[in-house]
Amino acid sequence: MGGLSVLLALRRVWPGRSSVHPDLEKLIVLQTHDVEAKRLRDELVALPKLVAGLETKLKAVEGQRAFVLDLIAKEEALRRRLESDVKDQQMKIEKGRKKIDQATTTAMVTAFEHEIAFAQGEIGKREDSELESMERSEALEAQRSLADEALATAKETLARERVRAADTVAADKVLLAGLEEKRAALRPQVGETALSNYDRIAKGKGTAISEGINQKCTACQMMVRPQRWNDLRDRDHDDEMMTCESCGRLLYYDPARDAPQKKTVPVESIGASIIRSLRS
Ligand SMILES: [Zn+2]
Repeated sequence: MGGLSVLLALRRVWPGRSSVHPDLEKLIVLQTHDVEAKRLRDELVALPKLVAGLETKLKAVEGQRAFVLDLIAKEEALRRRLESDVKDQQMKIEKGRKKIDQATTTAMVTAFEHEIAFAQGEIGKREDSELESMERSEALEAQRSLADEALATAKETLARERVRAADTVAADKVLLAGLEEKRAALRPQVGETALSNYDRIAKGKGTAISEGINQKCTACQMMVRPQRWNDLRDRDHDDEMMTCESCGRLLYYDPARDAPQKKTVPVESIGASIIRSLRS
């Protein structure tokens, strides 16, 4: 649509006269179709990749969550072992007390008391370990709830983007088919040489046509030499198409877009203003 509005603007400014070669007029429109078609094709390639990326991310989040759950399970198993150890030690203590009751010498009593004290020490160590394990579990539970949130978000995002991608792909395919029709109708209307030039430049550069604004090629940003700029501005539509000396694209000039911008240029070099006053 950009190309068409440009042409309408050209006709508005210079009624009855177009500074643009008739083939170039069509090529400007063709380029808008080609650029849009490329955008759609790129999007058709990018969207499945985007969805695949989200699937990979979901798997990674699931993996992280499974890792945290595994650590939680290991801490729980550790505490069960510790508790069973504590029970064993408590049984030893009970046995020790019975042995003390049945002891016949002071030496035996002292030995059993040692056994009991040792078992109590072992219980104390395990209770400390249990406490440490519970602290780790608490931290892991916090990680689990973060992992749960991340998983829910990843699932939601994937589901949403899958639908959006499918809708966009379907819409893009329709738009692309429409553009292909327009291109197929337009291309035969362009002169053979101009069309093959266009195709050759577009193949190498991505786009074949560039607008000249403020004496610059808008595609490569290089200045157009003053004489060539004047040629571009004053040309008749019967003239040969002009190319940018820097990038080789076909140049066109749109007075409707260029003129207002020139007025906003705050400072004009003295040299340029002299040249301008001599010309006018
Ligand atoms: Zn250029």
